[in-house]
Amino acid sequence: MINKKMKDTFSSSASEKAPEIAQDKAAKGVDQSQAQEESELTANDEQTDLSDAQNSLASEQEKLNKKEMKKKAIADYCKKTDESFKKFRWGKSGCENYHWNFVRTSVKGDPLVWKTYGTKAPEGETTETTLIMCGVHGDEITPIKFCYDVLEYLEEVTKGKLKDPHTGKIASLDGKRVIVAPLVNPDSYFKKRPTRTNARGVDVNRNFPTKDFKKSAMKSWVNRYGKDKRRYPGVKAMSEPETVFQVNLIYRYQPNKIISVHAPLTMLDYDGPASEHMGGFVGSRANQLLIRMSEQAKGYRIKNYPFFTGSLGNYAGNERNIPTFTLELPSSNPAKSQAYWLLFKDSIHSAVMHEIKGEGFVALDREDTTYKDTRSN
Ligand SMILES: [Zn+2]
Repeated sequence: MINKKMKDTFSSSASEKAPEIAQDKAAKGVDQSQAQEESELTANDEQTDLSDAQNSLASEQEKLNKKEMKKKAIADYCKKTDESFKKFRWGKSGCENYHWNFVRTSVKGDPLVWKTYGTKAPEGETTETTLIMCGVHGDEITPIKFCYDVLEYLEEVTKGKLKDPHTGKIASLDGKRVIVAPLVNPDSYFKKRPTRTNARGVDVNRNFPTKDFKKSAMKSWVNRYGKDKRRYPGVKAMSEPETVFQVNLIYRYQPNKIISVHAPLTMLDYDGPASEHMGGFVGSRANQLLIRMSEQAKGYRIKNYPFFTGSLGNYAGNERNIPTFTLELPSSNPAKSQAYWLLFKDSIHSAVMHEIKGEGFVALDREDTTYKDTRSN
């Protein structure tokens, strides 16, 4: 039998306890190392020893139960994922074949899953870490399939089955780490009619704890968006588990770059250190990748879209100098998913292989490597 404590661990109300801690500290401007410790704490809370010394047997039982609960949560989640894939005529998702990580759940209790690939670089060398997230807005359908295509691609690379389109050599993830969170906002995606906002009506991409949140979030929601319900930031930064999930992935893995996939604005947007003189080395490398990704996708439009109070681009790119690329696919039409993946497959490959700080970077197609800022269009 599952006792109450066990149930609480998996109910959404329990999963919100950790966010509250993270939220308050983030609001006070907690430094990174502290925040990392705390994220390790929350990230490992599935492993937390619930027992005391006198009760280790009961504790073993609880651990077993917890494992079973997690297994069931994943099985249910994958079943729903497969149903949605069927609905959109995408074939099988393969969800149940992946070994997912998950710590917290969505507002409605679905696991917020991620998967990691690659191997760490040897001591003293930089591990290039790329975080890829999809499905932040549940009504943007194509990005979710896109992330499952990314997962399949990474499986191929891991098995040594993929040739680098440029060098012709077998691609490898040695010294690279890739983290994929294919569905950040399951509650809104799994609805009969998917919505942008999460189960509590919050736009998860306006709920990040940016410095201006307290001052501007509500104000800009009223003045800039005319109280548009689709862009409601929430009463407090990080009030939503789907936001905490993303923030903790950033603290836990310290990515060198982030790729967030949306639709349908048909552009590639970059937030982070500026190119050339202003941005120094990281900025140059990031902008080089930006151009490369566009070149490999038939000259996909690069646009300098503004960032917003509470958005990922502001939080990670602007405030933390983590190069953050927002790939806006051309539409949410599920029938187009295959075409989008084919269009961007090489761009994603470049994004994974391109090192922002290390030695290995993907060269531009053309001779000119001055990384001119072409973002003014
Ligand atoms: Zn979006």
